[in-house]
Amino acid sequence: MKRYGNFTAVDGVTLRVREGEFFGFLGPNGAGKTTTINAIVGLARKSAGKIAIFGYDNERQWREARRFVGLSPQEFNFDRYLSLRDVLIFAAGYYGIRGKEVVERADMLLERFGLTSHAHLEYTKISGGQKRRLSLARALIHEPRLLILDEPTAGVDVELRLELWRWLRELNQEGLTIFLTTHYLEEAERLCRRIAIIRGGRIVTEKPTEELVAEGESLQDVFLELMRH
Ligand code: ATP
Repeated sequence: MKRYGNFTAVDGVTLRVREGEFFGFLGPNGAGKTTTINAIVGLARKSAGKIAIFGYDNERQWREARRFVGLSPQEFNFDRYLSLRDVLIFAAGYYGIRGKEVVERADMLLERFGLTSHAHLEYTKISGGQKRRLSLARALIHEPRLLILDEPTAGVDVELRLELWRWLRELNQEGLTIFLTTHYLEEAERLCRRIAIIRGGRIVTEKPTEELVAEGESLQDVFLELMRH
């Protein structure tokens, strides 16, 4: 549970994401998705409740728990004066990881996400789509086991969206657990094996995607129906 003053933003949310799963966390604007994510990664202190990440309590054992999680947040929060390569190297330092291996991993991620030719540029000099890719690379720099994506394809063109989907599928096939928040219901339908929907801070459904979609013609129908009640 998370309260901001008298306002309860998230209440009674119980979720279990299995290792290796591609999990979708959907809901309308203001439903409590980012608040939940912030509580998971320790950016917001929950008012009540318990969160365990691969068995580690995210408050009492925050060091271990934090190490397992990579977050690509909804809003870009890069240091504007760093080059793309340094964004990644500094992010690794935050987890206490330094040295040659980090530089190699940063270069590998820049290559994987098509950013090598821009590696020396400052973050302010790249496009929105490149920032999305950089955000994904940064979330992966410390080799997390859980990747949390808060609207990872917001504002990207159709080609890059397809490419991001391909990368995310690949990462999931490599064993990474993925927790995705998105307003693109088609994206969730295509990528996620299980979906939870939150409204007004409470979970209204949590099911395998196939079951959820079978309740209407598309995930969008089911979503809109749930929002009506
Ligand atoms: P969106 O899809 O628009 O990003 P969301 O589901 O991520 O929405 P949250 O950002 O979690 O929604 O917000 C949930 C509710 O909590 C909103 O009513 C918001 O105004 C409120 N809220 C979020 N952060 C704070 C804060 N720091 N102080 C007060 N209220 C907040």
